[in-house]
Amino acid sequence: MISNCTRLLFMGCLLIFIHQDSLGQGKKRDHDKNFHSKETVEKYRYKSVHQVKKINLPGIENRKAKNIILMIGDGMGTSQIHAGMIANKGELYLGQFPYAGFITTHSANELITDSAAGATAFATGEKTDNGMLGVNPDNEPLQTIMEIAEYKGLGTGLVVTSTVTHATPAAFAAHQFSRHYYEQIASDLIRNDIDVFIGGGRSHFTDRLDRLNLLEILKERNYTVVDTVIDLEAAHGDKIAGLLYYDNPPSILDGRGDMLLKATKKSIETLGRNDNGFMMMIESSQIDWGNHQNNILYQTEEMLDFDIIIGHVLEFAAMDGETLVIVTSDHETGGLAISGGNLKKGIVHGDYTTNGHTGVMVPVFAYGPSADLFTGIFDNTEIYDKMIEAFDWNGSKP
Ligand SMILES: [Zn+2]
Repeated sequence: MISNCTRLLFMGCLLIFIHQDSLGQGKKRDHDKNFHSKETVEKYRYKSVHQVKKINLPGIENRKAKNIILMIGDGMGTSQIHAGMIANKGELYLGQFPYAGFITTHSANELITDSAAGATAFATGEKTDNGMLGVNPDNEPLQTIMEIAEYKGLGTGLVVTSTVTHATPAAFAAHQFSRHYYEQIASDLIRNDIDVFIGGGRSHFTDRLDRLNLLEILKERNYTVVDTVIDLEAAHGDKIAGLLYYDNPPSILDGRGDMLLKATKKSIETLGRNDNGFMMMIESSQIDWGNHQNNILYQTEEMLDFDIIIGHVLEFAAMDGETLVIVTSDHETGGLAISGGNLKKGIVHGDYTTNGHTGVMVPVFAYGPSADLFTGIFDNTEIYDKMIEAFDWNGSKP
């Protein structure tokens, strides 16, 4: 009896381990347990606490967007945002968006989506099965908004805090049966001619089963290839491959610093030179990973970092007047509840109900041309439909 129980427990742990690993969250921190103690949460000072300046957001009359910046907080539900808001003593840049709504997130085969199916819905307007990228459940390729943008001569960009081959960015540029075909996804990024892609995952371009060195191919195609944040900041040229880490970028807790902000600035600067406009996706990938680990400090640091980038993008859009900014999420992770804390001191206590994803609605925020489309409750596939409407591409898709 005892040995059966032990065996079951072992199997359970193994399953959880495999499940977490398949979600690509990287290694679990050794001292995670400490993060659950109330004492640690009370003593912790968030590195990414920031002052929220009031941005003057002019009303936008024009319906047609020249540029769209889609910002995805992976695993970011209302509790994740609210935890960030409490840690930042009540204010976030997210609070300044004039339009907000909610989206449902189920995939074609599951009530609870994964990031591959979730991002495929944003990128193509179609639901697919969990784990599949840019294809329908019959594994037939679906045209992505990035491909339409490329066809129409717009600039295209993907900026993330995971590997660039991870599920969310991959769904915008790849067509693969499985999110785990990282080397094929790297090839798809080049085949689709994405102008700027910045994140981790250099290994998928250099240490490949087919022995190709994709960095050489990128250089032949006039990409500036950089592998450090410093070189990224100095990079010129209209095409940039920023493969800043061999594998995943570290978390903020482990010293990532302002990589996402610098990558976002470089991407806007580069793509902004395109007279036809641009389509960009920015993902704060590790909000998801912090919540998979049920680690409130990890998740809240990532949330605060994301809000700093959101503030920067919102400032750009306010000045530009032709840029639609959308902030949303593919799904909630962890079933997080805010169970206590102190708003004045910026202390957050969170309780989790799962180390996986959940099926609750997640919020969407918008500013810019046609931002009023993003209100009420709608489906994740409609994010795509509304972006196409904002670009005024209905009836003119290739
Ligand atoms: Zn996840």
